[in-house]
Amino acid sequence: TLDIETTRAWILATAAAVDSHRDVLTELDAAIGDADHGANMHRGFTAVAAAVGGDYAPETVGQLLGKVGMTLISSVGGASGPLYGSAFRAAGRQLATPEADGDQFALALRAALDAVRALGAAAAGDKTMVDALMPAVTTFDEAVTSGAGLRAAARAAATAADAGARATTPLQARKGRASYLGERSIGHQDPGATSTALIFAALADTLD
Ligand code: ADP
Ligand code: MG
Ligand code: MG
Repeated sequence: TLDIETTRAWILATAAAVDSHRDVLTELDAAIGDADHGANMHRGFTAVAAAVGGDYAPETVGQLLGKVGMTLISSVGGASGPLYGSAFRAAGRQLATPEADGDQFALALRAALDAVRALGAAAAGDKTMVDALMPAVTTFDEAVTSGAGLRAAARAAATAADAGARATTPLQARKGRASYLGERSIGHQDPGATSTALIFAALADTLD
C-alpha cells in the first residue's frame, strides 16, 4: 500500500528529479514554448518540498496530495501550475485514508487525468502532458486489474509515461503555447509530457 510516508517520499523524489532535470525541461520548452518549464516546475516543487517536508503531518494520503496541488497552483504562474495542481488535488480527493491500495490509487490517477482534461481540454495526440499521463493511467489501471501490486503497476505506468512523452516528438502541438508554432512544433519532445514522465518515474523508484 501507499502510506503517508511513502507518498511524502514520492513527492520529495519528484522535487529532486525536477531539480536535476531543470535544464532539460528548460531546453525542451525553449524549442517549442517560452523556456520556463524548468523554472516553473523547479519553483513549484521547491515550494512543495518545503510545504510537505519535515513537520507537516497530514492525516491522509489525500490531504498530503491536496497540499501538493494547492502549493503548485499558488506558486507556478505557467499553464503547468494549475494543470498539475488540479491533478494532485483531484487525486487527493479520492484518497481520504492513511494508506491507499492499488485499486484506490488507480481511481485517484483517473481523477487526476480527468481534472487535467477538464481544465486544459487537450485530447490524446495534442502534444501535451496528457500524452504521457493518459497511457500511464491506463497502464496502471490495467496492471492493477490484472492482479499486479502497486509497485509493479507503478513501474509499468512509468514506462508508459516515458514512452508517451517520447512519442510526442513527431506530433504537431494543438494545445498550449507550442500550438502557436504550428508545424514548427514537430520534431521536439513536449516539456510537460516529459515532466509527467519524471513524476511517474519518481513514484516507481520510491516504491522499489
Ligand atoms: P507555459 O506554457 O504557460 O509557459 P509551462 O511551460 O510550465 O507553462 O508548461 C508547458 C506545458 O504545459 C506544455 O509542454 C504542455 O505539456 C502543458 N500544457 C499546456 N497547455 C495544456 C493544455 N491545454 N492541456 C494540457 N497540457 C497543457
Ligand atoms: Mg513555458
Ligand atoms: Mg510561461
